Amino acid sequence: MLEKIALYVVATPIGNLSDIGLRALDILAKVDVVAAEHIQNSRHLLAAHSITAKLISLHQHNETAVTDKILTLLNSGKSVALVTDAGTPGISDPGAILVKHVREQGYPVIPVPGANAAICALSAAGIMNPHFLFYGFLPAKSGLRKRELTALKSQQCTLVFYEAPHRILECVADMMDIFGPHRQLTIARELTKLFETIHTGTLEEMLAWLQADTNQQKGEFVLLLSGAEILDKSETSEHARHTLECLLAELPLKQAVKLATAITGENKNTLYQLALDLTGR
Ligand code: SAM
Repeated sequence: MLEKIALYVVATPIGNLSDIGLRALDILAKVDVVAAEHIQNSRHLLAAHSITAKLISLHQHNETAVTDKILTLLNSGKSVALVTDAGTPGISDPGAILVKHVREQGYPVIPVPGANAAICALSAAGIMNPHFLFYGFLPAKSGLRKRELTALKSQQCTLVFYEAPHRILECVADMMDIFGPHRQLTIARELTKLFETIHTGTLEEMLAWLQADTNQQKGEFVLLLSGAEILDKSETSEHARHTLECLLAELPLKQAVKLATAITGENKNTLYQLALDLTGR
């Protein structure tokens, strides 16, 4: 019996079944009902820890309907845990609709933290930039994917993506198209599992690495792409400086900066400051 009638949002392992906390196990053993993305997967996890629980299914196609059912359970004094197939519910996974409604109805929602693939990858990648932007999945179609990648071009944070094995090659190829060959990419594959691989190189190197070994295209992936360079005027690349100078000779300052930013992918504010310096304003 749990102290509190609540919805417990419980993170589960992303591969290695031992990666689950004591508190999570205690709660999963004591709640009245466990709402699981795939009952079979969660039964396997619970059995590995000798837990028997009443399971109901909650996935992206029935989340709204099951939310009503869970509200009825909470209303009758039952406690419920939410789990997904892997990692933290609500993170590129179902859960947000349920949590929103449960909170709106005034029931407690209690997070029980644990594994998350993005954080797991970041923790072992050795990236010095302290800022990251979690993006999750990009669109499946290349046109839309490139559009979303283009919108991220000037982000200076490390960009964190999830990707499926059948799209990994074309996704990295699209990244190279949009960001050029030189940005650093870390591919974290099959984290916490038998074929765990964490490999870093430029986009060009990483595409070649994937193409050279089809085994590296299998499994689950987190992609960590370095952000746009943070430049001060002394570090601005020769190419950007030259582009800006050429444009300033022909165009008003604002237009020259706008075009130079689009052409070089460098930071707009940095180029603006450089344009002011170059024109003596
Ligand atoms: N909620 C999960 C979390 O907290 O990380 C993510 C679920 S999302 C549906 C599944 C995606 O997460 C996979 O396609 C993959 O991109 C990433 N992922 C999950 N487990 C992983 C693992 N063991 N290694 C690498 N990536 C993983």
